[in-house]
Amino acid sequence: MSKKLIKLSKSCISEKEKLAVLEVLESEYLGMGEYVKIFEEKLSEYLSNNVICVSSGTAALHLALESLNLKPKDEVLLPSLTYLSSFQAVKAAGAKPVACDINLNSLTIDISDLKKKITKNTKVIMPVHYSGGVFDMDEIYEIAKKNQLRVVEDAAHAFGSYYNKSLVGSKGDIICFSFDGIKNITSGEGGCLCTSDKKILEKVKNLRLLGVENDSNFRYKNQRNWNFDVKDIGWRYHMSNLMAAIGITQLERFEELSQKRKALAKKYNDLIHKSNSYISTLDRNYDEIVPHIYVVRIKNMNFREELREKLLEQNIQTGVHYFPNHLLSLFKNPNVYLKNTEKIFNELLTLPLHPDLSLDDIKYIVNTLIKEVNFYHDRY
Ligand SMILES: *Cc1c(COP(=O)(O)O)cnc(C)c1O
Repeated sequence: MSKKLIKLSKSCISEKEKLAVLEVLESEYLGMGEYVKIFEEKLSEYLSNNVICVSSGTAALHLALESLNLKPKDEVLLPSLTYLSSFQAVKAAGAKPVACDINLNSLTIDISDLKKKITKNTKVIMPVHYSGGVFDMDEIYEIAKKNQLRVVEDAAHAFGSYYNKSLVGSKGDIICFSFDGIKNITSGEGGCLCTSDKKILEKVKNLRLLGVENDSNFRYKNQRNWNFDVKDIGWRYHMSNLMAAIGITQLERFEELSQKRKALAKKYNDLIHKSNSYISTLDRNYDEIVPHIYVVRIKNMNFREELREKLLEQNIQTGVHYFPNHLLSLFKNPNVYLKNTEKIFNELLTLPLHPDLSLDDIKYIVNTLIKEVNFYHDRY
């Protein structure tokens, strides 16, 4: 029995982040300033793309969609199995989210269902790189090109992941990352948007600062634009120096943080594959991707809440990613049935994953899980 609660996820903070925050506090300039510029430059270098930092991953998704001037009838295709953010960002941009099914192997958007759901109103495809896994992107961009659609990648889970030897964020249309407290890197809260589209870039730079023209360039110098015009509706979505200081440090530590995540996920896979149990792992190559969450599938699981309770009694916190969005009241449509999503959702369980776990923690978690799952399976 583990003496301490093994958390599902947590921020991993070293002395370096503490010193970085202290430096900003002592500068007494906490808002958006030169640290944000430095963080953007470092991200830009790492991702080989233009980067704009904002206050959250949700804000990045919202502004990405907002910059595409969507109308109320316009449709955005996205998988139902995602964080609520993806759906709310579409709503916030005034468009209509259209829930798609997932592929049972990858748990990312199902290409054949996606194709079926394209209508004359479709404007955007929003793939979600669930648990860091990136699949079928060549096909998705081909479909987008053929149908003149834009692509906004929800890459909140995939900072550091590669697809076909390219880093996620380095290629593509508009790619959004989240730096919330538990993501692959954090800036406290925060997020960023990447694109090579100069028009989108300029627009988003203003939209994050209430639509004030050219304010970003003043803020980068710890100043602000007092003499401005506003042509678009805008939001208070900028990042602060305080956040950027944490982000810069986490990016410096990313090699260490990402290697740890990969090693832990590989250990999970090894132990689960050896166990020959009712538990199966996701199709992910941890040499190529950085996992944000570690999800398993448990055959015929009709006891998830009891199981989670039992695991918690033994100091293992677990999660459920995600309750399908198309079943929530706000997005419900009686004509929509997503076969794979509704079948698999009850069988998913998320196990603890964060860089402060040890390989022994993983062993303890897997042994405990197998014991409990066998118990429930024998009983039912
Ligand atoms: C975390 C997350 C977001 C939103 O990011 P925030 O920074 O929390 O706003 C969006 N999509 C997915 C899939 C996420 O996991």
